[in-house]
Amino acid sequence: MTARRHPALSATDPELASFVAAEETLQAETLRLIPSENYVSAAVLEASGTVLQNKYSEGYPGRRYYEGQQNIDRVEALAVERAKGLFGVDHANVQPYSGSPANLAVYLAFAEPGDTVMGMALPMGGHLTHGWGVSATGSWFRGVQYGVRADSGRIDYDAVRELALAERPKIIFCGGTALPRTIDFGAFASIAKEAGSILVADVAHIAGLIAGGAHPSPAGHVDVISTTTHKTLRGPRGAMLMCREEHAKAIDKAVFPGLQGGPHNQTTAGIAVALHEAAQPAFVTYAHAVVANAKALAAALLERGFDLVSGGTDNHLILVDLTSRGVPGKVAAKALDRAGIVVNYNTVPFDPRKPFDPSGIRLGTPSLTSRGLSVEHMPVVADWISRAVAAAGSADERTLTAIRGEVSSLLSTFPAPGLPLS
Ligand SMILES: *Cc1c(COP(=O)(O)O)cnc(C)c1O
Repeated sequence: MTARRHPALSATDPELASFVAAEETLQAETLRLIPSENYVSAAVLEASGTVLQNKYSEGYPGRRYYEGQQNIDRVEALAVERAKGLFGVDHANVQPYSGSPANLAVYLAFAEPGDTVMGMALPMGGHLTHGWGVSATGSWFRGVQYGVRADSGRIDYDAVRELALAERPKIIFCGGTALPRTIDFGAFASIAKEAGSILVADVAHIAGLIAGGAHPSPAGHVDVISTTTHKTLRGPRGAMLMCREEHAKAIDKAVFPGLQGGPHNQTTAGIAVALHEAAQPAFVTYAHAVVANAKALAAALLERGFDLVSGGTDNHLILVDLTSRGVPGKVAAKALDRAGIVVNYNTVPFDPRKPFDPSGIRLGTPSLTSRGLSVEHMPVVADWISRAVAAAGSADERTLTAIRGEVSSLLSTFPAPGLPLS
């Protein structure tokens, strides 16, 4: 199989080729529920593996420090135009290597070391790069953090406002990695305005839902939109920063020469293709199906007695608190993995356990929706999860093995984009 799909790689480096082939099989046969992951299309894969890789192009289209940019300029300009059109923004920078450097560029554009910045606390569902202590952003800047309400599991906007007015941060980040509910960008905008802060919407997780109209857009509410391109947006691993014209220069200068050298042109090409795909009617259908599947999976889990943070979901993501099941998140995640269901263990808000051994697991529907699974399959998925978590508690390996067979049998009729048919 690999020899046919990757003939040169198989001939040059059979050992590495065998790892790729094994990964293709794993991604084909397992139910991938990590909400930050997806399956890119064959077209995105092809674009990301081109000779554009060979070119150095520090600078921006029309303003480069190297010659021979005739084609590279067209690739990057196309990606930029598509990003502006899809997200309805004045300006887009498609060069950040990934989400974390994109956020670092935002700090470079708008803050000085030691300034106060504000974001959601990591254990509440925020991201490391929103000023959390172990991140450079939390040691070079003074991070102050907000969270969710204990009673509702939802962002406490009154507390956000109080903290913002008390601290007057240079930058406020909204968005995160484990937020199952809609973000009210308008509420954040009025808080940021009152506090005199630059507002950044980090929509890494939900960019595809926004593009497909399944989550409100931050455009028009925030100063900067930061996003990865490889989560619900279904592009290659990369990132974009988008903003109003007034911030365009500051953002561009921060990305290059402030933080990075040459852009990864093969990735820019993959981003352009993903943005083209995301502008099609089929992607609107996809984005809404991701949410419908998540809501159906949440309902099926609730029916089976699971506790969900905030009681459900508005988007692609579900945060399950396993405390009442008596199974730690890590034990459950590892058992699910043996059952062919790939999730990650995750802290839940106010988690009494340690981050490396927390109380929850995080689930998402972007990948299974890309394979064509729909709401009628979600009770089956919830059943597998329920049985696997019970089996984890009683060290019942036979049940896990049986589930693994059921999973791969169902998935064999839902081929994954970009993967060989087995
Ligand atoms: C994934 C993510 C990032 C970081 O992206 P990387 O590409 O992994 O560096 C930043 N912010 C949020 C909210 C994310 O979900």
